[in-house]
Amino acid sequence: MSISFSEDANDQLITTSRVLEEDANEGSLRPHTLREYIGQEKAKGNLEVFIKAAQMRHESLDHVLLHGPPGLGKTTLAAIIANEMGVNMRITSGPAIEKAGDLVAMLTNLNEGDILFVDEIHRLNRAYEEILYPAMEDYAIDIILGKGPSANSLHLELPHFTLIGATTRSGQLTAPLRDRFGVTLRLELYTAEELQRIVTRSAGILGVNITPEGACEIASRSRGTPRVANRMLRRVRDFAQVRAGGNITKDVANEALLSLEVDHLGFDALDRRMLRAIIEFYGGGPVGLDTLAATINEEAVTLEDVYEPYLLQQGFLTRTPRGRCVTAKAYEHLGIPFHGVEQLHF
Ligand code: ADP
Repeated sequence: MSISFSEDANDQLITTSRVLEEDANEGSLRPHTLREYIGQEKAKGNLEVFIKAAQMRHESLDHVLLHGPPGLGKTTLAAIIANEMGVNMRITSGPAIEKAGDLVAMLTNLNEGDILFVDEIHRLNRAYEEILYPAMEDYAIDIILGKGPSANSLHLELPHFTLIGATTRSGQLTAPLRDRFGVTLRLELYTAEELQRIVTRSAGILGVNITPEGACEIASRSRGTPRVANRMLRRVRDFAQVRAGGNITKDVANEALLSLEVDHLGFDALDRRMLRAIIEFYGGGPVGLDTLAATINEEAVTLEDVYEPYLLQQGFLTRTPRGRCVTAKAYEHLGIPFHGVEQLHF
């Protein structure tokens, strides 16, 4: 799999949910079965039924669309589906498909029942998307050979395969593509309790000593995101090794994370800058996403995909038709007096 690492300076923050270079070995922490996969009970419950039904009918699983913010376990879940179905999985991503031939080659190399995982499927070139329509619906593709009057069409039958698409923005998928997925599962941010279980499990795999309170401390600061939780665990482990004899307690985790500028809610410098800008420049909001992004010199997609989900979940930000607004909690967190009037704009 080709993983593109983030090059944006803000994305190098420990709290980003995007993949960093230090996450390259995160594969070792991936659960392999639905039983091991913590949380996402609704998605898991549905999948269990679909997988069993497909197995009883000896058919391939219906095409699945997984959507949700980065780092919540979409790739992991796709690999689990392949494992539970006992089939192979081929991995690609929307931006990696540069020519129609790339997609045709992937499709024609599949075996009966195989899974084709397309990460960031919303970034697939629209022209190539049309190859997927008959492939998904009829398990066949038509290839045009040559040009002009001498052009020939070649009809190729494909094995019955399952397409699993992952996206952080399902709204950007075209309706014809979205409609061809029989199963759509939305992954939600994890609760602190679920993340505590994830941290404890990862610590076990890494052979790290951690107290329940230490795991809880990391969990409550990892923005509802397993990727962030696992990354924090590895950084806190380093800190514990050097300063605390290798044991991660609540105090060790707290001290390590504060030294990394992660506050007790898991907010980092960019979260605070974003909230502060809405208050200081736009009276608390509403402000449009692009305007806000320009104000703090950050990409709008980073704010929307990586930062907003957690700020919305925690009730520090609201989304209105006229833009983003902060809530009284944001004022309180930043120590700015709140007079209430700013909130009446929407
Ligand atoms: P996405 O594809 O949504 O960006 P990944 O599937 O790559 O996210 O998950 C990131 C990391 O988080 C993985 O290495 C995995 O170890 C961990 N992870 C994700 N979901 C879970 C889960 N439900 N239980 C345990 N670990 C998880």
